[in-house]
Amino acid sequence: MSATLITGKPIAERIRAQVAEDVAAIGHIGLVTVLVGDDPASDVYIRLKHKAAVAAGIDATDLRLLEETSEAELLAKVEELDADPQVDAILVQLPLPKQIDEAKVIRALAPAKDVDGFHPINAGQLYLGEPTLVPATPRGVMAMLDEHDVELSGARAVVIGRSAIVGKPMAHLLLQRNATVTICHSRTRDLAQHTLAADVLVAAVGVPGMVTPDMVKPGGVVIDVGINRTEDGLVGDVDPGAAEVAGYLTPVPGGVGPMTIACLLENAVRCSRYRRGELAFPL
Ligand code: NAD
Repeated sequence: MSATLITGKPIAERIRAQVAEDVAAIGHIGLVTVLVGDDPASDVYIRLKHKAAVAAGIDATDLRLLEETSEAELLAKVEELDADPQVDAILVQLPLPKQIDEAKVIRALAPAKDVDGFHPINAGQLYLGEPTLVPATPRGVMAMLDEHDVELSGARAVVIGRSAIVGKPMAHLLLQRNATVTICHSRTRDLAQHTLAADVLVAAVGVPGMVTPDMVKPGGVVIDVGINRTEDGLVGDVDPGAAEVAGYLTPVPGGVGPMTIACLLENAVRCSRYRRGELAFPL
């Protein structure tokens, strides 16, 4: 058996075209990204996000602060952006330098401008099953599953990884769609016993090729969120040999990655709807 590849690009392009239409209809959407320091990976991510935002007509500002920026300085900047009526959406690129408490900065964001969906209010709304701004990567995964009409209601879904950025919101989105969800993590015993039962398996770990073909349920849907830089280039968390067992598989690169950026832009549109009162933010 050879799995059907679920590529992200065509779905992402469609989402981005819709965002461009929305931006044109709205007139102005202001997005400010804040990068503190010059971490090369973060620099690449910020550039990609900007290019995509500008291409969709979003008024994007790429704010760069020095590595030695203090927590107080960053918090003051966030508060300024929170209060700026021209700014719909704010993204503070993580990780932040060690002198800055990330949780404090995330809590300082106006929840309705928190385009990444990391603020406790947005995380809590998702937990309650009343999503507001939801992290882009798991939203992108849901769009990929829907594109291929993957049946989620009653399905056994296994998420490997429990980060606040991917694993946990992913599990909640699947739960909301009535999947029976298991979250596996670094302390899970006998991981394969769980993954082998998964109708839908989402790997968000950061360990190259850790999901081997013998861990995949024949015919199952496998979503590889992992992006790992190795000597052989970018690889996922799933061994490509899993394509011989799975029914569907996302490639790396070209799978979930493009979806993340497209869904981030969608979130910026949502932020603008909150700011303009077109959608009510639950505060
Ligand atoms: P993280 O390091 O915050 O979390 C990793 C999770 O994996 C942890 O919850 C940990 O418990 C679990 N884990 C670690 N080792 C394990 C093991 N041996 N068995 C089972 N679970 C284990 O990472 P993250 O931010 O959630 O990102 C995960 C991966 O997804 C990374 O490769 C990251 O680069 C990638 N990522 C991709 C996108 C995208 O757009 N495609 C977006 C965000 C993150």
